[in-house]
Amino acid sequence: MIDTDHSNAAEQFEGAPRRRRLPLPALARLLLEHPEAVQAFERRVWTGGGGGSHWYWLGAISDSGHGKLQIGSRSDDSAVVALAHRIAWVLGGGDCGSDAVIRHDCDESSCVNPADLRAGSMADNSADWVARRHRLDGPLGDVRGLAGRARAIRSALLEATAARPGEQVLAAARAAAAGQPFGAQLTLLEAPERVCPPILGAGVRPSWAPLTQAEADNLLPLW
Ligand SMILES: [Zn+2]
Repeated sequence: MIDTDHSNAAEQFEGAPRRRRLPLPALARLLLEHPEAVQAFERRVWTGGGGGSHWYWLGAISDSGHGKLQIGSRSDDSAVVALAHRIAWVLGGGDCGSDAVIRHDCDESSCVNPADLRAGSMADNSADWVARRHRLDGPLGDVRGLAGRARAIRSALLEATAARPGEQVLAAARAAAAGQPFGAQLTLLEAPERVCPPILGAGVRPSWAPLTQAEADNLLPLW
């Protein structure tokens, strides 16, 4: 999917104290200098689906659907905001020798599982988009847009974590499927171990109301 951080620096650092581009080598150095940022990153990643599943970002989400995290401090003017999947690439041992575009093989913009990430060029990224944007059963076909999808999944996971820890996988799958245009025609499989997008039907929505952005943010300290 499109990795907008490479093509649009303003979008990458939307809301950031300082708008500037952060190439991979610089990001790697910054993470070495700020171990507290690594800890903050780890606290905001949901890995409950296992190594072969999406690792959803539970922190702040940009309008492009990507996770984002502040590194450094506003008080000393050292703060920058980096995209969570690029941090995941660095922490996962990805090549940081050049400033590559980091793409999602899974198209799930808030996913930070290094196994789902791949380095490439802008041309590769564009080719990904062209090849997969019409898939109605994938993230790029979500009627809520990538940011809406990412925030819905985050809300579902935060809600499940607080109230029904055993249903996190199911909650994430339901939230993901709720935005698929033809999801209502699919079959709902209630057994969590069998829930694997895009099988889950979107016709059945969670009985609880999704959290608002503010509510989700307030829950973060509990995670
Ligand atoms: Zn993924």
